[in-house]
Amino acid sequence: MAHNFLQLKDRFPVAEGTMAFVFRTPPDFNFRAGQYVEVFLENAHRDFSIASSPQDKGILMVATRMTGSAFKKSLAEVPLNTKAIMEGPFGDFTLHENKDKKAVFIAGGIGITPARSIIKDAMERKLPHKIKLIYSNRNREGAAFLKDLEKWQRENPNFELYTRMTDREGYVDAEFIKKSAGELAGAIFYVVGPPEMAGAMSKALEELKISRDDIRFEEFSGYN
Ligand SMILES: Cc1cc2nc3c(=O)[nH]c(=O)nc-3n(C[C@H](O)[C@H](O)[C@H](O)COP(=O)(O)OP(=O)(O)OC[C@H]3O[C@@H](n4cnc5c(N)ncnc54)[C@H](O)[C@@H]3O)c2cc1C
Repeated sequence: MAHNFLQLKDRFPVAEGTMAFVFRTPPDFNFRAGQYVEVFLENAHRDFSIASSPQDKGILMVATRMTGSAFKKSLAEVPLNTKAIMEGPFGDFTLHENKDKKAVFIAGGIGITPARSIIKDAMERKLPHKIKLIYSNRNREGAAFLKDLEKWQRENPNFELYTRMTDREGYVDAEFIKKSAGELAGAIFYVVGPPEMAGAMSKALEELKISRDDIRFEEFSGYN
């Protein structure tokens, strides 16, 4: 299993209560957009999807809600240049190859991390895939990377962003998915976020008669 000591290069807020952490990576560290790593610090560990793109050479960025847990407090407080152990990359929540099938991401809150990586990578590699992102948060202030996503939408005709601010607009449901995704036949759905959100989206997609074969899930277990 790949096992690396990565130095903490930088950290900064990316939304209310949400921080990004940037680590330096060695030249032989490779991953596919959408994968995750296991970060070990002071005898504890957590899984984090990589939010940066493989094209961001020499670094890896993760982002997380600052829940107040001891692990995340350490991450926020250790001096820059501290080395964390990182295992991985793991997972196959990665973009499908068939460019004729559009990708529809449904990301809940901090579930945006692997979607950001995949979208950024697809734009940088000029992949022809059409990508739609349904991004749900309680409000704009808490929506990580929202400015990036809005900018990418303006610059890239292959990418469309549909936000849902649940404090004002209610949860994402089958109707909102249908309205945002457009033609459902031939689309591949990527659902990512806390287990409760993933469960609700699974039901909504079932309502829309989407085949299980066309849905990929990444559940952020540990958030309830
Ligand atoms: C594939 C994957 C990708 C993830 N990506 C992200 C991400 O990009 N950003 C992000 O913020 N979070 C991500 N998570 C969730 C993350 O690993 C933490 O579980 C979450 O952030 C809560 O940690 P905490 O320290 O705030 O909570 P705590 O309150 O300390 O932890 C909650 C409880 O869950 C337990 N726990 C922690 N991690 C896990 C786990 N993975 N599985 C089962 N139990 C666990 C703890 O021991 C504790 O009992 C991901 C999880 C998975 C499985």
